[in-house]
Amino acid sequence: MSLTTLPHGDPAVVGDDKFHEECGVFGVWNVSDAAAVTALGLHALQHRGQEATGIVTFDGARFHSHKGMGLVGDNFGDARVIASLPGPRAIGHNRYATTGDTVLRNVQPLYADFEFGGFAVAHNGNLTNAHVLHRALVRRGCLFQSTTDSEVFIHLIAISLYSTVVDRLIDALKQVVGAYSLVALSNEALMGVRDPLGVRPLILGRIGADASGGAGAANGANGGWVLASETCALDIVGAEFVRDVEPGEIVVINDKGVHSIKPFGRTPERFCVFEYIYFARPDSVMEGMPVYEARKRIGAELARESHVPADVIVPVPDSGVPAAMGYAEEAGVPFDLGIIRNHYVGRTFIEPTDHIRNLGVKLKHSANRAVLEGKRVVLVDDSIVRGTTSRKIVEMVRAAGAKEVHMRISSPPTTHSCFYGIDTPERGKLLAARHSVEEMAQLINADSLAFVSIDGLYRALGSKGRDAKAPRFCDACFTGDYPVPLPDQADNNDRQLSLLTESR
Ligand code: AMP
Repeated sequence: MSLTTLPHGDPAVVGDDKFHEECGVFGVWNVSDAAAVTALGLHALQHRGQEATGIVTFDGARFHSHKGMGLVGDNFGDARVIASLPGPRAIGHNRYATTGDTVLRNVQPLYADFEFGGFAVAHNGNLTNAHVLHRALVRRGCLFQSTTDSEVFIHLIAISLYSTVVDRLIDALKQVVGAYSLVALSNEALMGVRDPLGVRPLILGRIGADASGGAGAANGANGGWVLASETCALDIVGAEFVRDVEPGEIVVINDKGVHSIKPFGRTPERFCVFEYIYFARPDSVMEGMPVYEARKRIGAELARESHVPADVIVPVPDSGVPAAMGYAEEAGVPFDLGIIRNHYVGRTFIEPTDHIRNLGVKLKHSANRAVLEGKRVVLVDDSIVRGTTSRKIVEMVRAAGAKEVHMRISSPPTTHSCFYGIDTPERGKLLAARHSVEEMAQLINADSLAFVSIDGLYRALGSKGRDAKAPRFCDACFTGDYPVPLPDQADNNDRQLSLLTESR
């Protein structure tokens, strides 16, 4: 999250369309070429953030850091950069923020020198009380260097009265509210943390633990450890999946091994269901379930719920592909590539204005007339946010000669903004927050439109349906049921109200 500063110095999300970041984190302990291994891990996590990237290493005496705007390959493709990051321990971060705060000082990992040594932290998620904490910390004299919510961790650790870094970290964690998966590096340890509800993912892996030492191991048989947002980052570096870091767990990794601390009381888990629908890479396994499989199953459920007679099932690439495959299989209708994606254009969301976004969609997708002409087409995509993509794609498919165009969406309607680390526009810009499904169908000019039901989504992911009293996932973007309190929202509303009163 970005903390926008008002002229009088108070931070607030005012006038921001977007206030979220999407991020990927990675860390290694006891691995030779730690910076290169981390760059590879970040490369596999590039889909979680394309705006900026950074790596901090520790060589046993000193910390080293390199950060830059842009992609991992743009920043860490040069061997000289990797050589400037010595040491067998490292953490890294990919960031994708959409506010104006796209400046180098916001790029993570954040680093600070403390009395106990150095400390670097990389964060995926959003702290929902960041503004409240920021204001309190500024009043105490803390000088913020960035406008990211993640920096509150640094200051909370700095002012903590505990002596060890782990105790200070726990002290800080007990004051933050929100969704966070963290990797952190101190002189003594690599640490990984998941928030008590486990909203964002974090996994633990082993690297080079075989007798030969394997790729990347710094000390042969003992091997090293890896923390990552997703399993696809383990695969690329030849690491083995050990387990998910548990919700509310801190793993402290040093040469003695992995030590687990659970400083919070037990709360029911609420993993983000949108990771399965869209965000994670399809070759990752999350909470024991392959994402690819999950997407195919959601597609099959969608077909069971809302299939219409059709000649061809066409995915909106890339994110709609597995769901469309599952749909086609279930419906017994051929799957075909009626839309071709240009891979050299960034995600639609990177474009900041509606006008440019419209151009972006045209740049990104084109219709494959050979598949579409004269056909009754079912288009499958993972979500409708503003409706920009669907509107353009339907228009494109009609222009390529399709007889009918039916849109099927492998998520329920997105009616609420995410405050936990998935980039979404403010609620007023979400198409489904303002319109019924029938109205949306008209707006995107589809012959019909259907979304998978919330129970269908849960069924596809192995539950009987959504248990309203104890939902298994965080599905706030579809239900408005926010599992983590949103103090900043209340705070901002109060504050904006008082500003209005003051100005009258
Ligand atoms: P829109 O065009 O605004 O309706 O956005 C929907 C499209 O954006 C879909 O094709 C999704 O695959 C994609 N999408 C959904 N959520 C996100 C997100 N958080 N970040 C980037 N792209 C997204």
